[in-house]
Amino acid sequence: MKNLILEKLYIEITRNCNQNCQHCMRGTKQNINISNTVLEHIFMNPEFHIVKIDKLVLTGGEPFLNPEAIIQILNLLDQQKIKINILQIVTNSSIYIHSLIKKLEYFQKKKHLHSHYIIFPSFDQSHQKIPIEIYELFRSSSIFYEGNPTRILNETQILKEGNAEHHNIGNDWQLPCNEYYLEEKNNDYYLKNKNINFTAALYISVNGNIVDQTSYSFQHIDEYKLANIITDSLFDLFPNEKKQKRRFLR
Ligand code: SF4
Repeated sequence: MKNLILEKLYIEITRNCNQNCQHCMRGTKQNINISNTVLEHIFMNPEFHIVKIDKLVLTGGEPFLNPEAIIQILNLLDQQKIKINILQIVTNSSIYIHSLIKKLEYFQKKKHLHSHYIIFPSFDQSHQKIPIEIYELFRSSSIFYEGNPTRILNETQILKEGNAEHHNIGNDWQLPCNEYYLEEKNNDYYLKNKNINFTAALYISVNGNIVDQTSYSFQHIDEYKLANIITDSLFDLFPNEKKQKRRFLR
């Protein structure tokens, strides 16, 4: 069993969403949640044991539409004794689940996370307005990052992916040219990026597809996948340069 140390791990726990933002880089929502099989292949993989993740990000769609997966991930982190410095959940903050917030607060104290905030709201004037009562409930939690509710996204902050591409808004950002490899030190394997301007951010989607970019639409994640966590080996994938498909937007 090889020990794996990750800089950034993004897990897409659902492709469902209760909003339909014009600027959404993920695109049309899909009624798919991450399965236990995918989660087990991430956290209980027969090939490797993740010992540390510097930053773990749970994303979607709207992650709070799949609270079971959040709880399952917290339990797996505990059971497998995985150290994490920062945990973030990126949410539109329209769904408040009291028991889940309490569990996350408890988890933060227990794990002594470096992150003061776990819940990162996409809460601004470009998202659907949420009822003030829900916002106040979130605000009463110590793990909620208030952000900037008055922010309005301008064209330069929008990536022309997903819905934005469909509505012809935003910019054609050039995505980083990532090249990941595993560096071994005493049976500990560190996932690194040859592109020294960026960390190694592994993105695993609801269906187990792996990409080296965090800003693809659902369609492009499936189209540009490097491998699948259920069927493929991370150790075959990295540093196999032939599989390092790079994509520049237009
Ligand atoms: S931007 Fe966020 S809240 Fe809006 S549709 Fe996309 S995933 Fe949902």
